[in-house]
Amino acid sequence: MKTMTLYRQTARVMKLAIVAFAATALLSTGVCVNNALAKKGGSPTGAYSDQSVYYPGTEELAPDEMRVIAVGSGMPMPRLKQAAACFLIELGNGDKFIFDMGNGSFERIHALGISLDYLDKVFITHPHMDHMADLATFYMTGPQNNRSVPLRVWGPGGGGMRSEWSFKTSMDHMEKTWAWMKGTLAGLIDTTAFKLEVTEYDWTKVNNIIYEDNGVVIRSLPAIHLEGTASFILEWNGLKLAFSGDTLPNKWWIEHTQGVDISIHECFFTPAMAMEKWKFSSMEAINAVTTVHSNPQYFAKVMAMTNPKHAVAYHFQNDFDTLPIIMDAVQEIYDGPVDYAQDFMVWNVTKEGTRTRMAVVNPEGYPPAPLEEKSIEAGGDRYQTPDSVLAGWPKEFDAVAEKIYTDFNKEQGTDYKFQLKK
Ligand SMILES: [Zn+2]
Ligand SMILES: [Zn+2]
Repeated sequence: MKTMTLYRQTARVMKLAIVAFAATALLSTGVCVNNALAKKGGSPTGAYSDQSVYYPGTEELAPDEMRVIAVGSGMPMPRLKQAAACFLIELGNGDKFIFDMGNGSFERIHALGISLDYLDKVFITHPHMDHMADLATFYMTGPQNNRSVPLRVWGPGGGGMRSEWSFKTSMDHMEKTWAWMKGTLAGLIDTTAFKLEVTEYDWTKVNNIIYEDNGVVIRSLPAIHLEGTASFILEWNGLKLAFSGDTLPNKWWIEHTQGVDISIHECFFTPAMAMEKWKFSSMEAINAVTTVHSNPQYFAKVMAMTNPKHAVAYHFQNDFDTLPIIMDAVQEIYDGPVDYAQDFMVWNVTKEGTRTRMAVVNPEGYPPAPLEEKSIEAGGDRYQTPDSVLAGWPKEFDAVAEKIYTDFNKEQGTDYKFQLKK
């Protein structure tokens, strides 16, 4: 099939609906129609066999299959509809990887209902907020969200990048920024989740292996986006995924992403759109989309030169009025299959091809259960609120708390004692 965009799909579905309506009108009895539908759709009370949307947690991933979810497809400018850059890659061998974690993406990751213990590998292309901001939230709320394994993070360093900008320095500062939170949680809940394993990769190296385990190889390519910025290529089981992060078109990407199964590349606004929608000045607009980022024409030319089996354009506000402009600009140069990413767009990738759907997620999620039983370290390590602060506790509430403890111990078969200090 040639280009099958959501835009075109919608038009096609509407045409099919009109044809179906016309066919129904031609049939002399409704019974025939109902029988036909019953055969196609199963029984009126059973589950539908063919889901056109993805409900997280309801489908097994085949051993040779890759599932990719656009957790964040948007921009640094916050909006309810789209978080900033974040893609989840799930493999049939059980491994899961997160590529970038921009502002707003963590709540969307959590809406997928996956235990944080399975989401322990995060790769960051560069330290812009729209690619890294939610890493702090993801890490620091690990204890409350039942993470029980160390969080492993990869980010750029070396290659002449000044040390105060490096990923290790950044992660060190992140831990220091949240020192109060770390210190005061100690002894109150299981804080095993605060183990952070930081690996820096040399962002200047070309097609450099930065991860290799369990049949999965991740390589980095230098990107042209200021400095200290990379793109990633993930290979597993004969499947190849490329993720640009932010970059101008570059020779490394063009050489090393030829014919990949799925090519996820940034696709910014046109300069005119940047002026109209972002209220950028003319100079800001033309600079941003031509000298730091890939506009739709750059995106299209890159895809035309690399011929991926499936292309994904991301990193723009994808709305009813912006999408047609972006699509027109792309289609002037490239006529291969492209999806224009929205948050929760899902790709199931196999050797046979790629299937695109939208996920329907739970907006009222809670933390999934821990994989291992949690325990807090009792004893002297527990944080102690100062007496001067506890002096504000009204004595009348002792009885209220005691009653809660009595009821709780009875229900749970425990023997806890109410104490504000240990
Ligand atoms: Zn950037
Ligand atoms: Zn960006």
